[in-house]
Amino acid sequence: MRRFNRSFVQQAALPQAAVEAAVRVLESSNLHRYGEFAGSESETSQLEREFADWQGARYCLACASGGQALQLAMRAAGVKAGDAVLTNAFTLAPVPGAIGAVGGRSVLVEVSEDLVLDVADLDAKAEQSGAKFLLLSHMRGHVADMDGVMEVARARGLTVIEDCAHTMGATWDGKKSGNFGLFGCFSTQTYKHLNSGEGGFLTTDDPNAMARAIIMSGSYMNFDRHGAAPDASYFAEPKYDCPNMSARMDNLRAAILRPQLGELDDALEGWRQRAAIVETALAALAPLVHLPVAADKADRVGSSVQFRLPDCDAEQCRALIANLAARGVEVKWFGAEEPEGFTSLHHHWRYVEAQSLPRTDAILRDVFDLRLPLSFSLADCDLLAEILCEEITSTIEKTP
Ligand SMILES: *Cc1c(COP(=O)(O)O)cnc(C)c1O
Repeated sequence: MRRFNRSFVQQAALPQAAVEAAVRVLESSNLHRYGEFAGSESETSQLEREFADWQGARYCLACASGGQALQLAMRAAGVKAGDAVLTNAFTLAPVPGAIGAVGGRSVLVEVSEDLVLDVADLDAKAEQSGAKFLLLSHMRGHVADMDGVMEVARARGLTVIEDCAHTMGATWDGKKSGNFGLFGCFSTQTYKHLNSGEGGFLTTDDPNAMARAIIMSGSYMNFDRHGAAPDASYFAEPKYDCPNMSARMDNLRAAILRPQLGELDDALEGWRQRAAIVETALAALAPLVHLPVAADKADRVGSSVQFRLPDCDAEQCRALIANLAARGVEVKWFGAEEPEGFTSLHHHWRYVEAQSLPRTDAILRDVFDLRLPLSFSLADCDLLAEILCEEITSTIEKTP
């Protein structure tokens, strides 16, 4: 039997230009974004201009991590201690973590079979909780019905912040994720779409909100040294009102990111191709295998694949994981009792008030998750798909 020999945690090589730019920054020793170099624009400021351009947003702030971007966005949007913040029940721990960090209370909203926020439950939870904020997590790149979400937001007076850690470049009806709410928040952590180890972005078209975020990110009053910031008049009040929370990006990371941004559209296409290979193979196993169905208006970036095995019990799910692992294929499973390696469920978050989410729980019990790094070739993905299909079929046949 053929075995898969690639590493699921090996990201694509950085462009040579990124390595060279990093060395230049190191040799200059000018690592801090506000280093005093008269007349030259910092790498970080240039990156902010370039990302704002790419995203199609007026303003951009580079920060220390995606989680910090979420925190800054919520604070700049006005979330105060004790405020209810609606968010997806299916997301990654930094999302409820960021809500907790700003003193908010997570109000969890059910997800649908297609792993996106359930608009009807959003409306119900907004009414019950009286929340004025929605931190919408486009978890694993699945874009919710943005027409429905924004309609509920308008009707209920919700300020929307988008967590785009998995949707850099994904669109709804041709509009990029991150451009629907007040803020879009992005991560440049190694396992997202750009890789600087750690890092993140905040984008918005709102000059007042961006001025607050920049001061809070720790600008030490150097807000005139931001290439994608509103003009100085917007800082008149925030510079006194907003506390410094030191969440900046440095020039080294920015230098690593700028050449990657130039290649991002090609990388996104590469992810789409890889996901398509695996998803097409899995789709042929219906109804044994369920794939989330994207709405016609959604265009996903498939840097990972999720699939469900609705007829499998927990024992079969565990057997499948072991059988795949024996052939070199690493899948995660959201039905496990214990949180493991990047995967956790809402009932693992004891810092969040316990909530009943029967539909989300019933769905996640058989959701599997497969990472597709760009270091896999298309031929690798063919083999991966073949092994997946063989093992799914045989695991289910073997058990009565
Ligand atoms: C990674 C991630 C974040 C936060 O990113 P960090 O840069 O690791 O802080 C937020 N939301 C989701 C869904 C993520 O996967």
